[in-house]
Amino acid sequence: MKNSDTAQLEFKKTSFRLSLYIHIPFCRRKCYYCDFYSISGFQESTEKKVVQEILKQADYYLKTMDKASIASIFVGGGTPSLLKDEHLSLLLGGINRLLCTRNRDKSAIEWTIEANPESLDKKFLQICAANNVNRLSIGMQSFDDDLLNKLGRLGSSKDNLRALDLVEKYWSGRVSIDLLAGIPGQKAEYLVEELNRLCSLSFIKHISLYTLTPLKGTLLDKQVNGEDQEEVWLQGSAALRSRGFNNYEIANFSLPGEESLHNLRYWHLEPYLGLGPAAVSTLPGERGDALRLSNPEDVNQFLDGNEDLWGTTVERVPIRDFLFETLMMGLRLKRGIPTALFSERFNQSPEILLGGLWQEWRRRKLARSSHNYLALSSRGRLHLDSLLVELSEYLDTRGHIIDTALAGVLPFI
Ligand code: SF4
Repeated sequence: MKNSDTAQLEFKKTSFRLSLYIHIPFCRRKCYYCDFYSISGFQESTEKKVVQEILKQADYYLKTMDKASIASIFVGGGTPSLLKDEHLSLLLGGINRLLCTRNRDKSAIEWTIEANPESLDKKFLQICAANNVNRLSIGMQSFDDDLLNKLGRLGSSKDNLRALDLVEKYWSGRVSIDLLAGIPGQKAEYLVEELNRLCSLSFIKHISLYTLTPLKGTLLDKQVNGEDQEEVWLQGSAALRSRGFNNYEIANFSLPGEESLHNLRYWHLEPYLGLGPAAVSTLPGERGDALRLSNPEDVNQFLDGNEDLWGTTVERVPIRDFLFETLMMGLRLKRGIPTALFSERFNQSPEILLGGLWQEWRRRKLARSSHNYLALSSRGRLHLDSLLVELSEYLDTRGHIIDTALAGVLPFI
């Protein structure tokens, strides 16, 4: 589907649950390893215009999907805590007004916002709480200033401690902390100490421990060693598990009941609407097919594009690609993909579509046997990247058979 066809975009007419992702494309400075779209050195007026366009975009799409009820909201970026107070209030207040007609009990929606320690203050927390935001995700990455400098982070360990202090005093919602494993020079013992200190704070019930993935060809890229990274991550994850944190997704750990509902929906490839520059959506088309919408990775194009649906490109996701994406995302989860969801989505049982490959993975102890879930073993999850290559080859070599089995299947019907 071409851009010019977006005027005829139609979405599912019956009721469905929808998540919102709002991308705030601003950072004070670019970290050395980051490939998320964001700009720095922007004008205050640009910030306001982007917020206004995001609200217009939300209004437009929610009107065209008038049967959708909102399941979760995630404001990410970029750095949402960098927004001026008035722009943050404008954004959150505007989304609340749009939701008034859809969800009667807004407090039931999980609403997350990302923050960086150096730009998190009391006012930010108050504006978020007053506007029904109930989950905070703070990108701390490390408590070692040398490592933070290596990453090009603006915040320091002192900023991290100050942010934790503010959150403890002024925030009653949920809190998640992001840390990185495998930074060149990082000692596993030090990471374990950091994690133990975080786990001893009763308000922290969710921690994401990502392995640093540097941009190709950068100094950081030349300094990392995959085996060292794996060892540091493994020791960090063992420390989290020993404190009762469940490794429910490859890089995510939580106490029971504290999982990120928004991200669970995302890993299950449930419908989500992405708003703002560079945001991507997966939405049910009118017939129940999967549509992928991508906003331009360019603030100016996004701002200039409102006559042409903000410059958004639209494609129908071929059903075989959607099958691959469902597995790629869902197999990240320890629990895996419910077979009921899989069969409902693809009108076929997993055995029919994946039988040979799944047996082979089970033989190699990479997949688990379960009637209710399609899940990898912990060893399988550690090698997810290479398993996805095998999966892609399997689907390609059996392409004709799979396409025949999936002919006419509409995943969101
Ligand atoms: S603050 Fe976050 S989004 Fe911004 S450049 Fe750094 S890692 Fe990327």
